[in-house]
Amino acid sequence: MKQQSRHTAWTEGQVEALFHLPFSDLLYKAQTVHREKFSPNQVQKSRLVNIKVGGCPEDCKYCSQSIRYNTDIKMSKLMDVADVVVDAKRAKADGASRYCMGAAWRNPQTSHMSKLCSMIQEVKALGLETCMTLGMLTHRQALQLKSAGLDFYNHNIDTSPEYYQNIITTRKFQDRLDTIEHVRQVGIKVCCGGILGMGENQQDRGSMLRVLANMKEPPESVPINMLVRIPGTPLENASTVEPLDFVRTIAVARIMLPKSMLRLSAGRRSMSEELQALCFLAGANSIFVGDRLLTTDNVELDADEILFQKLGLEEMTPQPSHSRDFLQEVVWWPFRFERWFRSTRLKTAICRAGPRRSFSSCAGAVTALGDF
Ligand code: SF4
Repeated sequence: MKQQSRHTAWTEGQVEALFHLPFSDLLYKAQTVHREKFSPNQVQKSRLVNIKVGGCPEDCKYCSQSIRYNTDIKMSKLMDVADVVVDAKRAKADGASRYCMGAAWRNPQTSHMSKLCSMIQEVKALGLETCMTLGMLTHRQALQLKSAGLDFYNHNIDTSPEYYQNIITTRKFQDRLDTIEHVRQVGIKVCCGGILGMGENQQDRGSMLRVLANMKEPPESVPINMLVRIPGTPLENASTVEPLDFVRTIAVARIMLPKSMLRLSAGRRSMSEELQALCFLAGANSIFVGDRLLTTDNVELDADEILFQKLGLEEMTPQPSHSRDFLQEVVWWPFRFERWFRSTRLKTAICRAGPRRSFSSCAGAVTALGDF
């Protein structure tokens, strides 16, 4: 997918006007925009796996993985690479062309990076597009993921800047934008969207879409989630989203983000076939398959097959990049050296001898390279 160029900034009034179009006019406009860039009958299937469950120190009010809420989540350590590969093979056999790996962290630690990079390499070797969501990233961590071949990084803004503090207090909206910027700077494609049904109003939905569409480079991938109200979380009793309002938001998103993949994500299990069909008509062109999303049940595979048949939909052809680009090739070798160095006795010998900087200067050179 090619990088997107900046659209003339959407104003609040323009977005409001879209939301207030008659429903049929809005869907016609969205479908027209959709057909300019995408096949109307192709939908990508993605698989999302939780590679580290629960125990997260953040306070996102919708999330069962926060350690602050009393939910029935079963915590787990970071998965082994071999187990991820087994699951990824299964996902591919089920028709997925994209494999997304999520970990419940505020941010990954340095000690996690080697394992995460191995996961990316192994999954890419299967011919799958790769995506990770790991929380906040430093520039160096983004560069490490890029060097391993990561295609997409997911980091949602969740809601509007104005409503954000009602949902999360342990990190700021700007922190989200900073991580997205680190991801952009190293050349990883951005997956960034939000959640509907957290008590926000239509202006908040429009404001969230304006943030996304007015980015210097809008996200290539935009997940639109419908809140799954999980017992034990502060939003367990939130009001449900009016289904046609959900479709409206998808349609407005399609018009404002004409080149982005729009992903129907959490909450699809509660949607009727008719509602999902309207979402596809409004421009959604990706779904998650598999029994589970990160922490919530998903639509059963058979049900998806039946819906695809009824609507005449076909799976989007996988188009993963198997080879690393120039930047990846350049930065990959220092990181391989780093991993090899950490695993050898040479490191101990050199460190005992004194010049510890020999290793960190290598890493520093890699970081500096990424600033170009
Ligand atoms: S959404 Fe992510 S960052 Fe927020 S509590 Fe859940 S796992 Fe942690």
